[in-house]
Amino acid sequence: MSHGTRKPPNPVGLSDLRSTDETSLVPLTVDAGAGRGVPAWLAATLNNCSRCGAALRLGMVPGEDRERLACDACGFVAYVNPRLVVTCLPVTDAGEVMLLRRGIEPGRGLWAQPGGFMEIDETVEAGAVRETLEETGLLVEPVRIVGLYTRPEAAIVVIAFEARIVGGAVAETPEALEVRPFRPDAIPWPEIAFRTSEWALRDWIRRVRPDLERPGR
Ligand SMILES: [Zn+2]
Repeated sequence: MSHGTRKPPNPVGLSDLRSTDETSLVPLTVDAGAGRGVPAWLAATLNNCSRCGAALRLGMVPGEDRERLACDACGFVAYVNPRLVVTCLPVTDAGEVMLLRRGIEPGRGLWAQPGGFMEIDETVEAGAVRETLEETGLLVEPVRIVGLYTRPEAAIVVIAFEARIVGGAVAETPEALEVRPFRPDAIPWPEIAFRTSEWALRDWIRRVRPDLERPGR
């Protein structure tokens, strides 16, 4: 990795973000659902052309190598792509990870890291910082990418940053009934809300506490 060259605009001070080293690209988790096309729940929201309102039809489109939802009336092709969920594992000076007990569905009452859907006008890092602040009251600075996880059945890709806590104060919010730190060897595995949270926590622990065997299993 190289520092000091081609620095992008950096509104949240992420010059040390190791976005190009090997930890950025592994582990890449491919989940069940890959290759099965648009999930049914998502296809059910795509009945009409967003340009002209006519019915969309699933079929082959010239120049494409797979079936697409397209509009016979105006030719519009409704591409369906995953959304990115930006999350942080905020780590305390004592090496504990701050998790929140979710106040809303899905996973109400269970534990997860702060995160949410990336907005269209922000960077990945800024989105992860924003979501963490909104849900926990903690101001964080991402320091490395823990992992990138695909859930085709949910049409999402989740990125998890390990983050340093640089300010703010823990605050319960409607989205977080409780926010508290957990030691790597004391993660409440049976009460973790999402598989992507399990994967991220496991990958984080594998690096910070390699002596812990098969965490979360
Ligand atoms: Zn149309």
